[in-house]
Amino acid sequence: MHKESIYGLTLDQLTSWLIEYGHKKSRAVQVWDWLYRKRVTCFPEMRDVNKEGLQLLADHWVIQSIEEDYRQESVDGTVKFLFKLKDDNLIETVLMRHKFGLSVCVTTQVGCNMGCSFCASGLMTKKRDLTSAEIVEQVMKVQHHLDQAKQDERVSHVVVMGIGEPFDNINNVVNALRIIKDHKGLAIAEKRITVSTSGLADKIYDFADYNLHVNLAISLHAPTNKLRTRIMKINRVFPIEELMRAIDYYLKKTNRRITLEYILLKDLNDSREQALQLAALISDKRQLTNVNLIPYNPVDEHNQYQRSEQESMLKFYDILKKHDINCSIRLEHGTDIDAACGQLRCKQIKSDQTNR
Ligand code: SF4
Repeated sequence: MHKESIYGLTLDQLTSWLIEYGHKKSRAVQVWDWLYRKRVTCFPEMRDVNKEGLQLLADHWVIQSIEEDYRQESVDGTVKFLFKLKDDNLIETVLMRHKFGLSVCVTTQVGCNMGCSFCASGLMTKKRDLTSAEIVEQVMKVQHHLDQAKQDERVSHVVVMGIGEPFDNINNVVNALRIIKDHKGLAIAEKRITVSTSGLADKIYDFADYNLHVNLAISLHAPTNKLRTRIMKINRVFPIEELMRAIDYYLKKTNRRITLEYILLKDLNDSREQALQLAALISDKRQLTNVNLIPYNPVDEHNQYQRSEQESMLKFYDILKKHDINCSIRLEHGTDIDAACGQLRCKQIKSDQTNR
C-alpha cells in the first residue's frame, strides 16, 4: 500500500484522523510535537506514544517521502538541495543565510507551465503539482540538515518562490502554509512567510480571502502590456489592468504590504522611461507597495537576456525613489552555484539524459 507522508496533515486533520481511530485529542498534540519540535524521522522514535499508536501511524503513514539526491554549497553559505520524490521526479530547495535569519525557498510543482521567458524552470513544463506533504517536507529536510550540524540553527523564514506557480497549486500550497505556520509546530511566523506569484489575478482574490496573513510578492517585470506579454506569457491571460485590480482588492482586504518583483534586463526593461512608467503605474498604491529590483541571473538557454549594468540599475532605483516608491535591490545569494531558479534541476536532468 502506498503511504503518504504525515507532513501533509494539519494539526486539525491529524486530530480528527486519530479520534476516528479511537485515540484522544492529546495523542495528536504528542505526535505533532515529535514531528515538528523534536523532529524525529521515524515513528519508533516517538518514545511516549504507545505501541498501538505507533503501529497505527506506521500502518497508514510515513514521515519521510523524499530523499536528497544532490547538494551544492556556496561560499556565502547558500545551500541548494536537489530532492528526489517518490516517483523519481527531481525538485530544488534552497537554504539562504541572511543577517536576519535563515530562509528556505520551496518548490510547489514539478516543472512549470507559466513559461516566463527568462526562467530555467519554465523550460521544463509541469509534470505534476506537489502535495502539501512534499512542500512541508522540503522545509523539514532543510531543518534536519541544520539539526545534524548541531549549531542550534532554525529555519526562520519560508519563501514560496522555487520551481512552479504556487497559485496553480493553491489548495496544496495553502494547506502546507497552515502546517508551516502552526504555532504548536514549526511555528514560522506569518510575517516571515512569502508567496510569490507570476500574476494569476483570479487567484490573488482567493488568496486575499484565505486570511493567511502571510506576505505576497507578484512578478511584474515590465510596466506595459506589450513588454510584459513578451517576457511573461501569463500577461495574455491577465493583463496589467486586471492584475492591478486584483492587487487593489488584495490591499483593501488584507491591508498588508505587497512586493512587486522586477527583474532588470539589459536594454529591455531598465530604461529611464520604463522606470517612470512603473512609478506612474503604481503611484496610487505606493503606501502599501515595495518594488524589489532583481539583478538577472543569466540562464544558458535564454541568452537573449543579459543582466542590467550596475549604473542602469542604480538609475532605475533612483527614479523610483524620487517618485516616493518604496524599493530595494535584492542581494544575491549563491552566485558561485547554479543560483537561478530551476538551473540545478535542469542541469541534473540533462546530465541524467546524457548518461543514460
Ligand atoms: S518564473 Fe516562476 S512562474 Fe515563471 S516559469 Fe519560472 S517558475 Fe514558473
